[in-house]
Amino acid sequence: MALSRRNFVQLLGAAGISAAASAAFFDESAANAARYAEGDVSNGSRTPRGASGRVVIVGGGMAGTSAARYLRRWGGSGLTLTLVERNTAYTSNIMSNGVLTGQTTIPSLQYSYAALRNTYGVNVVTAEALGVNPTAQTVTLSNGSTLGYDRLVVAPGIVFDALPGLTVGDYDTTYPHAWQAGAQTTLLRNQLMSMPSGGTFVMTIPPAPYRCPPGPYERACLVADWLKKNKPGSRVVVLDANPKIMAEPIAFTEAFTSIHAGVIRYVPNAVIDHVDKANSTVVTTAESVRFDVFNPIPPHRAGALAQSAGLVNVGGRWAGVDVLSYESSAVPRIHVLGDAIGTTMPKSGHIANAQAKVLADAIPKLLTGQALNQAPATSSACYSPITMTTASWLTGVFHYDPATRTMLVKSIAEAPSISASNYKDMSKWFTGLMQDTFA
Ligand SMILES: Cc1cc2nc3c(=O)[nH]c(=O)nc-3n(C[C@H](O)[C@H](O)[C@H](O)COP(=O)(O)OP(=O)(O)OC[C@H]3O[C@@H](n4cnc5c(N)ncnc54)[C@H](O)[C@@H]3O)c2cc1C
Repeated sequence: MALSRRNFVQLLGAAGISAAASAAFFDESAANAARYAEGDVSNGSRTPRGASGRVVIVGGGMAGTSAARYLRRWGGSGLTLTLVERNTAYTSNIMSNGVLTGQTTIPSLQYSYAALRNTYGVNVVTAEALGVNPTAQTVTLSNGSTLGYDRLVVAPGIVFDALPGLTVGDYDTTYPHAWQAGAQTTLLRNQLMSMPSGGTFVMTIPPAPYRCPPGPYERACLVADWLKKNKPGSRVVVLDANPKIMAEPIAFTEAFTSIHAGVIRYVPNAVIDHVDKANSTVVTTAESVRFDVFNPIPPHRAGALAQSAGLVNVGGRWAGVDVLSYESSAVPRIHVLGDAIGTTMPKSGHIANAQAKVLADAIPKLLTGQALNQAPATSSACYSPITMTTASWLTGVFHYDPATRTMLVKSIAEAPSISASNYKDMSKWFTGLMQDTFA
């Protein structure tokens, strides 16, 4: 069965999905790409034929790349699609905690834009988008050029706040957050390798909403498992600004109190007051802790372009959107996707891919004056390694609620147990998601 737009919505319409079932959403991607290459852009869907216009997408991450790919598949060949991305390849955050344990590497998490260019006919421009003129409907780029658009998609991910006592530059040199995979992830890996046995690894979690709700707890578990085997007697202290574990509470409570008991110490309500660099200490509202390796995950907000384009109107940090089309609630004809938006949905790569599909259905309709789908659905799945060989998972399905004009939780499911088979399923899910985005 090809993953047509109709199938996608019907699959999500089920009362709930397991993480393994969610992987099925991506399995047909290679076959569909081949069909497009043969000239079949209909993909069996109800996509309006004859849509034309210039769509510029800024940000070639999980959200922006999925949008470009599905705009071509569902919007047809009449669209002129341009993707602006500052990097020549994308580094996946998903699975990047495995770099810390040496189970994977940054190069193995990198994805190119070759398929977008060669299979989907997207003009991929390697440049920084510097500014948007919503009146002239143009985007200025660091290479000196200006792109005109009929619809602009802004998918810039996030930027990180400086913590009191630290500069943003400190994250690159000394105290890596590694919450954007890349050189900081490798730096944190190297710091762990150099940490003395019996040392203390301290990590902090910002107030929700933050990127990947289970991600910090997963990191704590993986680091603890690695330390047990490689740095005996070491400890992990998790300083969480939130009052409780924010995702997969059953699995992570078991992990912290049983599987990694005596290694991980979890401290809720620990809002950072400041970092005392001279004494290698972080001071929080709960307690002060001395560290050998410090991994602050700072509060974050919508990427800089969302802010400079006037799109940030939710809590001073995030971009508000109409979830029927992901059009900005602040500036017309600009759409925002992924971690940069402030909605009822979590900030995850899986759901960014799903949001992109709703947008790819909506933009051709907006360009041809057709009515939008009034019942979109999205889903999210996260696999969370608990040790270097076992994992848990979490899924959520969201349906549009016309009364509140938000995406309401239809179902949430957590793995019934932590297992090695979940760990194996994780690879299949990840491969499928990345194929559906980059292949
Ligand atoms: C450790 C970790 C584990 C995770 N695990 C999971 C998981 O298991 N499952 C899951 O679903 N999600 C997971 N996530 C979350 C997931 O990575 C993010 O939710 C996802 O990457 C968001 O996609 P995005 O496109 O919004 O942002 P990004 O993927 O960050 O992409 C944004 C892109 O925009 C580009 N950009 C920004 N501004 C500009 C500009 N002005 N000009 C040009 N380019 C620009 C950036 O270079 C970047 O490539 C994890 C995250 C982390 C940190």
